[in-house]
Amino acid sequence: MGILLIWSLVLFLIKWIACKRRGAISYDSSDQTALYIRMLGSCVIFKQLSTRDVRVRSRAGFVSERRGSHPYIDFRILHSQSETDVPLSARNIRRLLSFQRYMRSSLFFRGIAAQNSLYILDDDYNGQAKCMLEKVGNWNFDIFLFDRLTNGNSLVNLTFHLLNQHGLIEHFNLDMVKLRRFLVMVQEDYHSQNPYHNAVHAADVTQAMYCYLREHKLAKTFTQWDVLVGLIAAATHDLDHPGVNQLFLIKTNHYLASLYNNTSVLENHHWRSAVGLLRESGLFAHLPLQDRQQMESQLGCLILATDISRQNEYLSQFRIHLDKGDLHLDNADHRLFILQMALKCADICNPCRTWELSKQWSEKVTEEFFHQGDVERKYRLDVSPLCDRHKEKIYDIQIGFITYLVEPLFVEWARFSNTRLSQTMLGHVGLNKASWKGMQQEQSSSGDDTLPQKDRIP
Ligand SMILES: [Zn+2]
Repeated sequence: MGILLIWSLVLFLIKWIACKRRGAISYDSSDQTALYIRMLGSCVIFKQLSTRDVRVRSRAGFVSERRGSHPYIDFRILHSQSETDVPLSARNIRRLLSFQRYMRSSLFFRGIAAQNSLYILDDDYNGQAKCMLEKVGNWNFDIFLFDRLTNGNSLVNLTFHLLNQHGLIEHFNLDMVKLRRFLVMVQEDYHSQNPYHNAVHAADVTQAMYCYLREHKLAKTFTQWDVLVGLIAAATHDLDHPGVNQLFLIKTNHYLASLYNNTSVLENHHWRSAVGLLRESGLFAHLPLQDRQQMESQLGCLILATDISRQNEYLSQFRIHLDKGDLHLDNADHRLFILQMALKCADICNPCRTWELSKQWSEKVTEEFFHQGDVERKYRLDVSPLCDRHKEKIYDIQIGFITYLVEPLFVEWARFSNTRLSQTMLGHVGLNKASWKGMQQEQSSSGDDTLPQKDRIP
């Protein structure tokens, strides 16, 4: 009996260690439909031995500070190449500063008093950030500047401000400490090393969503609940994005791809991660169960709608409604559908911003694509479409994106909500597309000989 007990304990320990080393997924057994994925032990790196053989090994001595980071692939290696050119000392300093910023933001928002006199400097920055928030409904809002002024905490500050401004904290009797905690966890679960899919993108989408919710048609019919769901969905819609696309996860046999049957893999993961953080923070614990379930399911409706591969599905449905003129915003289902369309617009609204902002987003998303391509090439995988830095050009990517995805969506949105904002957005899209076309023509007339050597196909 004693030996059996010891043997059981040994088996349990072996399983537990193996699980920790791999980075485990835990499921919330209280809800079978909710595959609450909680990433544990992210101290692993990705090692590709052949195109079909993806292996993982522990990285001794390294303890990840991030919550919810990727269990099978340490995506920091995706960004290591650009760091090789930087002197070691500069690299270390940058990491140190970044770590300090992370610690400061976490401690600050979790209510632990700051003991650093440098906060005097932050007060000045906070003043400027507060000034910016007074114009948060302005379409020219510069989220990059706001992120700098808030010391990299744009998502927390912006979302908190919007919820407060709408009277949602009071209306739903939200606990301020739990709300802060929830927003900090959301911000931390975005990967700051992703050039594009990071917390600044989430803040940008939340700001755009806010602009759409202010539009007359929506403002006069949408309930406080609708606004709450819309803003939380915007803030969490890319949660724990690994900086690579679904195709990458499928071809590397990533467990998330199998978990979600290769369908809306990332969007499902963002949604489940958001649900996990809501439950963990207890933000809505005081609301009736039915409301909490409704919140989780509506968040799913909205976040899953951001799957760009399903764009045509949503767009044709939108067109049919507009042709028939049968959208009635006193109907809760119709309001939910409009929230889905609004979030889709907010998610791909980069080309609708001013050229200065739009160009920065284009460069960031291209950088992320090309990083994925670099990793695929390094591990002898087929380089995914748009990800090959030796073949693709930023202007071609942008012209295609605007023509096939952005313009068709925003034309229909303007049919639904024909306002000054809709016309402004379409105006920027036209101008930005013309700018990219200008670059394309310039390049084709000057020829590829002008390209630096490193940018040529080997
Ligand atoms: Zn997004």
